[in-house]
Parts: sequence; C-alpha cells; structure tokens
Amino acid sequence: MRSGVESSRLSRVMWMFCLRSLVREYGWLFIRQVAARHPWRTLKALRAAGRIDAAERGVVEVGGGPSDFRAGEPPSIVGAGFCLKPVDPPCPSGRFNHDCVCLERLAGADGAAVPVPCRSCAIRGIGTQSLRAGSAFYVMTSARDILDDVYVPALESRRFTTGLFVLCRYSFKPFAVGLMASGIRARLVPLGQGDCRNYRTWLLADRGIKGEQTTVDATASADVAARLGGAPPVGPLRVVRRGNVLFPAAGAPAA
Ligand code: SF4
Repeated sequence: MRSGVESSRLSRVMWMFCLRSLVREYGWLFIRQVAARHPWRTLKALRAAGRIDAAERGVVEVGGGPSDFRAGEPPSIVGAGFCLKPVDPPCPSGRFNHDCVCLERLAGADGAAVPVPCRSCAIRGIGTQSLRAGSAFYVMTSARDILDDVYVPALESRRFTTGLFVLCRYSFKPFAVGLMASGIRARLVPLGQGDCRNYRTWLLADRGIKGEQTTVDATASADVAARLGGAPPVGPLRVVRRGNVLFPAAGAPAA
C-alpha cells in the first residue's frame, strides 16, 4: 500500500506538472477550450486525478468502473504512444507523427507483405485489434495534438465517450484530467521499458525527442487484448483516416 508521504509526493508531482503546463501553449489552450467551458467538471477532474495511484503497477480506470471501456461500442477510441514505434530498423512512417502506413494502407495484411519493422510493432498489433473491434485508433504524439484530436472533439460532439490508452505512467494524472474534463471514461494501461519518468524527459518526448523505443509488457498486452475482445481476422480490414485518427470504415464519422 502507498504511504501518506508517497501519496503527497505524487500529488505534488501532478500539481507541478499542471503549473508548468500553464506556461506552455498547451496549458492555455486547454484552459480556453476545455476548462473554461466546463470549469466545475475540470475541478472535479483535477481532484479525481489527484487520487489516482500512479505509483502502483497495473491499469488505472478513469471516470468510471472497470467495465466502462467496451471496444466496438462507438464512440470509443484506443490510443498508443508514438514511442512504441520501432527505431532499429525504423518505422517506415517516421516516428513523431500519427502515421502508420501498415494500418492505413496494408490494413490486415500479413506475411511477406508486411515491412520488416512492422512485423513485431506494438502499434500494428494494438491498432489492428482496435479497428477490428470497432474502435477508432490514434497514435498519440504531443499533448497539444491530443487536445485537438481527442479532448475537444469529445467535448464538442461526443465523438469519443470511452477510451483505452497505452502511455507512460508519468502522464497518467494530467492525461486523466483532460479525459475526465472532456467527458471520456477510460482505461489507462502503462508502458513498460523506456517510458518517461520525469518532467524533463516527458517534455522532450512531447516535442518528439525520444530515442528509446518503449514496450508493452505481457500483462499489459493481455489486458489490452482482453478489452479489445481478440476479434479474429475476418476478411480485409477497411480503415478510414479522419484528421489524425483512424476509424474502421463502417463507423467513420463524415469527412
Ligand atoms: S506498424 Fe509500426 S513500424 Fe509499421 S508503419 Fe505502423 S507504426 Fe510504423
């Protein structure tokens, strides 16, 4: 169990994170586009996020009970950090972007058709499972883009109401604030090796400076697969991109 000292340290970390964000473009935009529209909900989100136990291993539920995320029940979204993209050999789509040529153009392809770096790529695995299960899929980059691509559409049009996100544990609390303030209930799954563990490395990664390739450990992979239902490959996977987000063709919003 977490000690009181550890608990208050983690709360301080989150508040420091929020205060530092205020001097960045993301912080001001978040206040204007989310917090100012729903100040009471944002305050409640800050309080709830402060109670998240980000020091312990395992997944964290945000804004609801453990069965809140159900893939295939639109509008749901699955996100995974760009840092999961391989570096050696490198991702053919580049690293600090929302692109995945494998999902967008070779969706569902297997065997020799799949480029070597993609064969064991976690983005391909999680993305394929998400899209087959009926959820949108998003390669997460900066906080600024997540605001534009996830929080604001959720707030303005209820584009996403549930989510499952694979990201560094250091980001759990501030990320949860954005999710809850924009009305998304979500399951947060921690990255394994290579994840950011302090503000300096997080800030560099937020600008695309991230040399390490992160991993998803076996427990987290099993959790994601269980949540996504492990839909068997039936026919070709048809994917449509809207902005920076990939959707199963059948459930894509209008262009
Ligand atoms: S599957 Fe992975 S390596 Fe291949 S294009 Fe997508 S993100 Fe890059």
